Amino acid sequence: MTKHIEVVIIGAGISGSALFYEIAKFSNIKSVLILEKYPDVAPLNSNASGNSQTLHSGDIETNYSLEKAKEVKKTASLLMQYTKQYGYQDKYIFKYPKMLLGVGEEQVEYIKKRHNDFSDIFPDMEYWDRDKLSKIEPMLCKDRKKDISAMGAMDDYCAINYGKIAKTFIENGMQENDNASFEFNCEVKSIKKEKDIYRIKTTKGEWTADFVMVNSGAHSLIFAHRMGYGKDYSAIPMGGNYYYLNEPLVKSKIYTVQNPKLPFAAIHADPDIGIKTNDMIRLGPTALPLFALERYKEGNKFYEFLELLDFDTRVLKVIFDSLKDKDIREFIIRNIFYEIPYFGRKSFLKYAKLIIPSLKINDIRFAKGIGGLRTQIIDKKNNKLLLGEARINKNDGIIFNMTPSPGATSCLGNGVKDVQYICEYLNKEFYEDKFNELLIENNE
Ligand SMILES: Cc1cc2nc3c(=O)[nH]c(=O)nc-3n(C[C@H](O)[C@H](O)[C@H](O)COP(=O)(O)OP(=O)(O)OC[C@H]3O[C@@H](n4cnc5c(N)ncnc54)[C@H](O)[C@@H]3O)c2cc1C
Repeated sequence: MTKHIEVVIIGAGISGSALFYEIAKFSNIKSVLILEKYPDVAPLNSNASGNSQTLHSGDIETNYSLEKAKEVKKTASLLMQYTKQYGYQDKYIFKYPKMLLGVGEEQVEYIKKRHNDFSDIFPDMEYWDRDKLSKIEPMLCKDRKKDISAMGAMDDYCAINYGKIAKTFIENGMQENDNASFEFNCEVKSIKKEKDIYRIKTTKGEWTADFVMVNSGAHSLIFAHRMGYGKDYSAIPMGGNYYYLNEPLVKSKIYTVQNPKLPFAAIHADPDIGIKTNDMIRLGPTALPLFALERYKEGNKFYEFLELLDFDTRVLKVIFDSLKDKDIREFIIRNIFYEIPYFGRKSFLKYAKLIIPSLKINDIRFAKGIGGLRTQIIDKKNNKLLLGEARINKNDGIIFNMTPSPGATSCLGNGVKDVQYICEYLNKEFYEDKFNELLIENNE
């Protein structure tokens, strides 16, 4: 028998789970259901193995301007406040030293300026010269000829297990609302609009809904395309791989200065707080174009890749124009080269020496089974690669979210915009005061 639900969310990654919690806790929406294809919460990119586990605050990521950093900090602080309120600090989110490292004269000057410009919004960030750095992270200085400096903080909640947090969102959401429920092992096969409702067919049966939120990673765009939406978007799945250090030669989160033309963060070092003990340090991620929508899962279907790419002359033009840029071309070739056995590791080593110059080939090993996938969205209408997230909303009772990065950090921030919109659409109430009291007002 088909059951009717007010809001159905498709996908229990960190985005869908955060939204589930926010609907259950901060609105009078009567029933909410989350459908997930796999047997557990956050099985793909939101899992600890899928991402770099960084709570992005905007300070050490050079792709964020001051204005963007202010926004990112705000949205990250919602998650920080959530972990504080529910007692998850030092359980699912941990303090580490963190820094943005500059190498060579030009970058050293850049760090000085960035530290100066950002110190008002990030008062805890210090400027560290080579002497100071040699005390904090000696391996950054060993065998380094070029000058270096960093802006950083010694003790910051910056490493977070998004997979575990997603689980807490589902648990806390269910506690808030007796009609908040989930179905796992439940793959959505189709969504169809019928007058004022949506009919959702899955491997476990059918539901109807007043509102549908599609938070299914790369699959969101496929669902949109199938329903005739988002035709100006196409996407290429980009896998990210990591290497482990065999010994914990560093202990901090260490980000490096990013080439502004590239949509992905430059190499960084991250303590692995997820599936391994925290003295495991990951280096990466790489960025490799793939023909699959999911990493390390069976059942990827090539036709889904084709649906996602939605290839036409406009896609070809964006790819061609991007490849005309020497930096982008070299970046892609370098990342493909990393995949070649033996030579790939050697080539990655050269890149990793940007962080630890004395690194030897036997100091690193490929991190098997680690690394998720970001959908690099192509804006066909404006002939460009989109940096960050995309949302397709035709004011029709359905929203498709694609949140490749920093979607995990901004899960509650994105979610609250969606709940507010859904409440308005369905003529329901969003409990703004309750939201502010719990996740904003007590903020430091
Ligand atoms: C290498 C890498 C490093 C990253 N590092 C960071 C970082 O340090 N910090 C950060 O903030 N972000 C980071 N990100 C980005 C972050 O991982 C994503 O933004 C985030 O995980 C997206 O969450 P999501 O819930 O939107 O998608 P996902 O986690 O992909 O979840 C989508 C869910 O939808 C389900 N689904 C799909 N199709 C169906 C269907 N038909 N029926 C039912 N369910 C379906 C999937 O099984 C999945 O569980 C990184 C990403 C990568 C790849």
